[in-house]
Amino acid sequence: MNDHVYDLLGVGIGPFDLSLAALIEDRTEIDALFFDQKPQFDWHPGMLIVGTRLQVPFMADLVTLADPTSRYSFLNYLSKENRLYPFYFLQRLDIPRREYNDYCQWVANELESCRFGKRVVELEFNEAEELYFVTVFDVHTEETLIYKSKNLVLGTGGVPAIPKTFRGFPGEDVFHTAEYLSRQDRCREANSITVIGSGQSAAEVFRELLKDHMEHEYRLNWITRSQSFLTMEESKLSVEQFSPDYVNYFYDFPQEKKDEIFGTQDLLYKGISSHTVTDIYNLLYENTVSRRKMKVGLQAMTEVKDIQEKDGKYELQCHQWQQGKDFKLESEVVIIGTGYRPNVPDFINGLKPYISWDDQGRYKVEADYRLRVNIPNQIYVHSGISHSHGVGSTNLGLAVHRNKVIINHLTGKEVFPMYEKHVFQNFDVDKLEKK
Ligand SMILES: Cc1cc2nc3c(=O)[nH]c(=O)nc-3n(C[C@H](O)[C@H](O)[C@H](O)COP(=O)(O)OP(=O)(O)OC[C@H]3O[C@@H](n4cnc5c(N)ncnc54)[C@H](O)[C@@H]3O)c2cc1C
Repeated sequence: MNDHVYDLLGVGIGPFDLSLAALIEDRTEIDALFFDQKPQFDWHPGMLIVGTRLQVPFMADLVTLADPTSRYSFLNYLSKENRLYPFYFLQRLDIPRREYNDYCQWVANELESCRFGKRVVELEFNEAEELYFVTVFDVHTEETLIYKSKNLVLGTGGVPAIPKTFRGFPGEDVFHTAEYLSRQDRCREANSITVIGSGQSAAEVFRELLKDHMEHEYRLNWITRSQSFLTMEESKLSVEQFSPDYVNYFYDFPQEKKDEIFGTQDLLYKGISSHTVTDIYNLLYENTVSRRKMKVGLQAMTEVKDIQEKDGKYELQCHQWQQGKDFKLESEVVIIGTGYRPNVPDFINGLKPYISWDDQGRYKVEADYRLRVNIPNQIYVHSGISHSHGVGSTNLGLAVHRNKVIINHLTGKEVFPMYEKHVFQNFDVDKLEKK
């Protein structure tokens, strides 16, 4: 037992808690420590494909939207790396995903409060001491230590969503896009590959396989249940929905209405970036020069209903739902691009009696990102809050705003000024000037 009492203990060090750690590093009034089970900061390592870009401008780094003077800004990282001039001449807002990861690693190494190789295995509330007890397993020494804290923050992100149909097959043949880079060699040896899904990750993997296709002549199929290979809604006025104004607007609706609205916003986060579609189209075009026969198939409106192992390959039972036609597709490798689901970890079980849940088993979250609990000690939360705070909950830029709100609440003062309006449009009609 470590008897020191922290103000805040954080579980998970993805970009969201890392941003919080960076913003409070110099705030002596908050004594905080953050834990992550990984040996070092690593952001979706299986998808750090060369050529992939951050889908938000670099200004959505860990600190700038809250405090542009912070030394943990992306520009300061560039300066320390002596890359300011190349970046200046690059003239791009969308930095490589690999560079964002490197930047975050640099920040994580600079911060006193981040501890890696530490898995949180249990959370409890000690009613006598009125403190949270956090049980932490050290993955290197295999020792377990209990830490005490007045408050908690949960930033455990999402986990790959793998439909039941695809579970239980050998991992080197049937895997989620999250593992793509570690399975790239396997793909290059395969005679046939099928990518399922038409979100950004599936598209990036398909693009990569298409690049390799010139050299490794596997048959490559891309199947999606969606109506088409739809482009993400990225226009400037649409992305204003990733603003604090929209979060506040959305939050005030009753839960039923929120669920209904969220159900209509797929293209804000589920489609493919237009630059990725353009790359794919260019590759398809170039791969067919000189009447080259490409063994590539793209098939929308098609659901994979079942998968069975057959002679070292996999048979996919497919259904083209518009035509109502069933067919079988054979593939040696199957890559599942079915997205991520929020990770509500088992370690929270010990706190369940203190937390309010809705009728769908989701936790109830206050506007300022505290779980609704029946004790005075707070649990702030980053993950699994799309139902309460809307479509922008997993957006990197909005996470910085969320951390401003959390820090202001935690300190009980306006450390970061809050503004009523951040974007040009109104969402709430009551705020529109009518005369
Ligand atoms: C491939 C990909 C690309 C994306 N690109 C963008 C983008 O360009 N722009 C954008 O706005 N959003 C993007 N997103 C969405 C979102 O920003 C990311 O998912 C982001 O990583 C979420 O951050 P996080 O801190 O919540 O969680 P994560 O980054 O998932 O981190 C969670 C951390 O919690 C740790 N953890 C979990 N359980 C425990 C435990 N028990 N003990 C200790 N540690 C634990 C994990 O090891 C992990 O490091 C992307 C998502 C994916 C999957």
